[in-house]
Amino acid sequence: MKKKTLWQEGIEPLHDTKFDYKEKDVDILIIGGGIAGITALYQLSKTKKNVLLIDKDKIGFGVTSNTTGKLTYLQDQIYEQIIDTYDTNTALSYLQSQRDAIAFVKQTVQREKIDCNFEEVDSYVFATKEEQEKKIDVLQSFLELNKIKYEIKDSIPIEIPSLKALKVPRTAVFHPVKYLYELARISLSKGVKIMENVRATDIDQDGAYYITHTNAGKIRSKKVLICTHYPFFIRPGWVPFKSHIESSYVVATHIEDTKGFSAITISNPIYSIRYHQDKQNYLLFASESDKTTKCKPKKEYYQKTSDRFESFFHLTPTYAWMTHDIMPNDHLPLIGPISKKHPNVMIATGFQKWGMTNGTIAGIILSELATDKHHPYEGLFLPYRPYNLKRCIQTVKDGIDNVNAMMKSTFQIPKGQAKIEVRNGKRVGIYIDPKGREHIVSIICPHMKCHLLFNEVDCTWDCPCHGSRFDIDGNLLEGPSVLNIDQKK
Ligand SMILES: Cc1cc2nc3c(=O)[nH]c(=O)nc-3n(C[C@H](O)[C@H](O)[C@H](O)COP(=O)(O)OP(=O)(O)OC[C@H]3O[C@@H](n4cnc5c(N)ncnc54)[C@H](O)[C@@H]3O)c2cc1C
Repeated sequence: MKKKTLWQEGIEPLHDTKFDYKEKDVDILIIGGGIAGITALYQLSKTKKNVLLIDKDKIGFGVTSNTTGKLTYLQDQIYEQIIDTYDTNTALSYLQSQRDAIAFVKQTVQREKIDCNFEEVDSYVFATKEEQEKKIDVLQSFLELNKIKYEIKDSIPIEIPSLKALKVPRTAVFHPVKYLYELARISLSKGVKIMENVRATDIDQDGAYYITHTNAGKIRSKKVLICTHYPFFIRPGWVPFKSHIESSYVVATHIEDTKGFSAITISNPIYSIRYHQDKQNYLLFASESDKTTKCKPKKEYYQKTSDRFESFFHLTPTYAWMTHDIMPNDHLPLIGPISKKHPNVMIATGFQKWGMTNGTIAGIILSELATDKHHPYEGLFLPYRPYNLKRCIQTVKDGIDNVNAMMKSTFQIPKGQAKIEVRNGKRVGIYIDPKGREHIVSIICPHMKCHLLFNEVDCTWDCPCHGSRFDIDGNLLEGPSVLNIDQKK
């Protein structure tokens, strides 16, 4: 089985994305070239602003290349959760924002003639257990109240055990990385700039300007849009105290014929299904979402996802990958200014595994705010919205989970080719490669000093608290850390 996402295959790299010192003074700096950052770049490329986007690696190869790539507003039990935390009107605004995002992608694909396997399909949510049927009823009432057309079915159009399903028409699936690269190329042709392999490490204020420190020098800008999936600083914003991280696992394989639908269970256990039509056809299946603080071996999750795929579809996966997403405690993404004090530093995070729509809407909102306009959803997603009681309870629970994760990870016994030893008075992680060479790293995450866990499947050192990931030599793969292991600012 390839331990690799489908979406990175055959992508032609961008040209002319090397760091250019002439570009160190810009109007708007976007940090991060995933769906949020590239959508913002595309929108801003229509303005006369001097805009630069930097990415620590290649654009589009972050979490966006590990998604299942569905564009849908049927997002498991999200509306029930928002109604419970806030109210029906807030849930309705969220629903509207997701529909707007789907419409934006559809119109952009059509207007720009983007070849990204965009296909309109029906979406289903379904129940696999009796107690989940009530959740379908709640969703049904909510859609009815808001005059959204739906159909109730006994099952989904594939042989997965299901008791009840709700279907809506005209949602979509696409190839997320092809879409991003085309948006990036169109944006470049309009004069904005992209610099790859430039990692932001810190941001300082200098009067009306912000100075972003990077591994390639400083960049001065009036506005900074932080679209790095997880903002890389702790203050201001306090994102670690407003969210937790979940990992999810995806498997896929070639199939003969596709069926024009996507589906997801309404609550745990999550089974998410979609088809992809390209030169070959594929079936993708995601499952086993869990909080990273559980500190369970990744192999178990991969195995369960793969076993379910085989038992449901009688197919053997040829691709398998995992990724993290940020789950906000009050079930609304965090999009906009990081604090009242810093209205020109904006974030886009907390997409709760629905970043194709939320990342799109984030890019649109941030591009409006960065050009001193307003957007109807800016209040809905305001990152420094007041804490509500339910969110506080979740924050306390997450804090306890983080402490537990710290304890569990301290006493870990890594599986496979890794071990923990005390060397020169320090506990270090050691990976022994197939040639018998030792790769030694500190097991402390540079972000918030959590203990790293060895991921025996991907051969990475992963932070159970905030999701940073490092390779066997300590090189940063995924933030929020901005440093390699052992690197000091
Ligand atoms: C298994 C799984 C399946 C999913 N399926 C769906 C789905 O079907 N539909 C849906 O709507 N959503 C889905 N999601 C959610 C969605 O994939 C994510 O929310 C979304 O891709 C996040 O996009 P982003 O732009 O925030 O982050 P990314 O795509 O990770 O982009 C961030 C970029 O920032 C760069 N970066 C990071 N730190 C720095 C730094 N310090 N300096 C410079 N650059 C930096 C990274 O290199 C990266 O390119 C899924 C999530 C998971 C976990």
